[in-house]
Amino acid sequence: MDIRSWLTEQKKKDLLRQLTPVKRLPAGQLVVPGHPSRRLLDFSSNDYLGLTCHKGLMAQSRHFLELAGCGAGAARLMSGDLAMYHLLETEVAQLKGQEAALLFGSGYMANCGVIPALVGRKDVIFSDRLNHASIYDGCSLSRAKVVRFHHNDLNHLEELLRKQRGTGAALIVVESLYSMDGDRCPLQDLVQLKEKFDCLLMVDEAHATGVFGANGGGIIEEDGVAGRVDVAMGTFGKALGSYGAYVAASRTMIDFLVNRARTFIYSTGLPPAVIGASLAAITIIRQEPQLRRDLFARVACFKAALGAKGLTNLGPSQIVPIMIGQSSRAVQIAHALRGQGIFATAVRPPTVPEGTARLRFSITRHLSHEALQQAASLVGAALETS
Ligand SMILES: *Cc1c(COP(=O)(O)O)cnc(C)c1O
Repeated sequence: MDIRSWLTEQKKKDLLRQLTPVKRLPAGQLVVPGHPSRRLLDFSSNDYLGLTCHKGLMAQSRHFLELAGCGAGAARLMSGDLAMYHLLETEVAQLKGQEAALLFGSGYMANCGVIPALVGRKDVIFSDRLNHASIYDGCSLSRAKVVRFHHNDLNHLEELLRKQRGTGAALIVVESLYSMDGDRCPLQDLVQLKEKFDCLLMVDEAHATGVFGANGGGIIEEDGVAGRVDVAMGTFGKALGSYGAYVAASRTMIDFLVNRARTFIYSTGLPPAVIGASLAAITIIRQEPQLRRDLFARVACFKAALGAKGLTNLGPSQIVPIMIGQSSRAVQIAHALRGQGIFATAVRPPTVPEGTARLRFSITRHLSHEALQQAASLVGAALETS
């Protein structure tokens, strides 16, 4: 492959991805240098609760930086096992209703480390078709056979389990809240299925932790299934406003992962400042359920305003997909909205199935009710005129 001509080809096909440096302002605004309307409302952030710039997180982050320096200096199995990691792991385990937890450098690394630790060549993975790229990559690294089931379709999953469960280890892997559709996995039915077919169940709560559950413990908390999930994974980089990731599970499972997850073993521990922020975030999401109520009041406001424009079927969460169909139309509308100060993503195949291109709005506590109503009317108008 010639690198230069590949780039030229991508550009011709409108598929070239490019980085856009931005500056963030309060109230969910972005400054995009060179952009005609300069200030855009950010509908593509995962900072759902607005914690990235929370004073509590920043203060504890600074405190830990002063206390312990900038870096861990080594992998945890060498000399880098700072006591603060264990403090955070205890908090995570409690939040997720599990015996123990283990930190990873990022959610991507957690999925790429945990899945190959659990299953190998002679085993099988049942994976939801819409799972995140990091889950796909973890599956490939494991060398296990991968069986994909239709998105959230447990009848299809059961049919595949009957035919392909085999006699080796079997892992079912799902997200509790899907990032492109904003819909939830039917976890209560899924745990019954995984028990019936004697499988391990891993749930990725990247978009749910902090946002769902009475204590912010995610959808496994809200659905009351924490005790029946074998591995609960999540990231600190989204609603928790920090960086890094975790898996929570039984003590035995965590002891196993410490020995087997290569992305844990062969990588430097997280920086102290990041641990400080993550610890503060967990305290805040547990003590301030009002943050979730604020978020969902905004979600309701946005959906009601879209409903008034005839847009319905907007899903059950803070991730609001507006179905368009044709990729070119989705791109055109996203572009027009950007010209009017709305930064939302056009999600196209191959990220989503052919013919289901959509605009994806992610709602955060930064956005005011006025901004949400204004955005909804611009969206309605853009749909009518395109
Ligand atoms: C964002 C995301 C990840 C990756 O987490 P990072 O901490 O950003 O690496 C993993 N799984 C899902 C479902 C995600 O949305």
